[in-house]
Amino acid sequence: MSGGTESGNGSRTSPGPQRGSGSRTGGAGAVTVRVPAKVNVQLAVGAARPDGFHDLANVFLAVSLYDEVTATPAAELTVTCEGPDADKVPLDRTNLAARAAELLAARHGISPDVHLHIVKDIPVAGGMAGGSADGAGALLACDALWGLNTPREDLLEICAELGSDVPFSLVGGAALGTGRGERLTGLPVGGAFHWVFAVADGGLSTPAVYGEFDRLTEGVEVPEPTASPALLQALSAGDTTALAGVLANDLQAAALSLRPSLTATLTTGTEAGALAALVSGSGPTTAFLVKDAETAETVARALVASGTCRTARTATSPVPGATTLTT
Ligand code: ATP
Repeated sequence: MSGGTESGNGSRTSPGPQRGSGSRTGGAGAVTVRVPAKVNVQLAVGAARPDGFHDLANVFLAVSLYDEVTATPAAELTVTCEGPDADKVPLDRTNLAARAAELLAARHGISPDVHLHIVKDIPVAGGMAGGSADGAGALLACDALWGLNTPREDLLEICAELGSDVPFSLVGGAALGTGRGERLTGLPVGGAFHWVFAVADGGLSTPAVYGEFDRLTEGVEVPEPTASPALLQALSAGDTTALAGVLANDLQAAALSLRPSLTATLTTGTEAGALAALVSGSGPTTAFLVKDAETAETVARALVASGTCRTARTATSPVPGATTLTT
């Protein structure tokens, strides 16, 4: 099952900032990069630091819901987007794809003259790192289009500058993110995990959810965030039942406080047969770990039928990070 109750594909276009000439186009006519969404199987959040950020122990898994970013030569930087949530995606330079193109071009002293088209399937503001995926995708697509061959390390540096979740969108698979979540260590995974994602109406702002976390933990001793050994063991063993027992998201209470209706979604999924349910990242997407593809279909149908979410999507993990489809 994929798509549920979604209807119609929007498509939006907008000119980007005016730029001078001088871009390199490397000869390629178009480059398309496919980038996965993520789910956090553990999101341990420390107390707010003086700079306002939080230290995290963030275990990411890349899941098989994808955006595609296509870069084509253009006279100036422009962004277009199509997909059910296209109307919620900014098309100016605040779009993470546009920012990625600008940062890459600046690093090489060239002009970011490129058209970026995003085919968006990852829910917007859903806690699944959709914007981050587009940033990583645009980076890889522009690098190939402009024939830059930027070293992987430099690409990862640009990703970290774009946002905490962007490096993981580039590398995919499974990884532990520390610091603000951007310092990544790859993790072994011993098998495939099956998921259902319930997409809520409307988004939740990540800063608002962290703000609510700060409010809820005021006066409380917040422990140092550390990765759970049991969770890392469950991942490396590919053990779905063990993983279901240790899924954890420290932002869940804050997301539920801002969006109490998500509790009904979580309950619906577990009653329909999910082994575990949690808010995905900062929400409001909810994630359900299930034992196999067949159960995933059953749970997705129950979620849609319940009316407690806008749509439900099935997916597997882990999958590779940003991948070039055409050059
Ligand atoms: P995360 O899980 O990393 O916290 P998210 O999945 O909750 O992020 P996104 O879909 O990345 O949220 O979008 C968050 C906000 O970022 C959007 O509301 C939008 O204003 C902005 N944004 C910038 N670029 C993009 C993009 N390419 N796609 C979607 N949103 C974008």
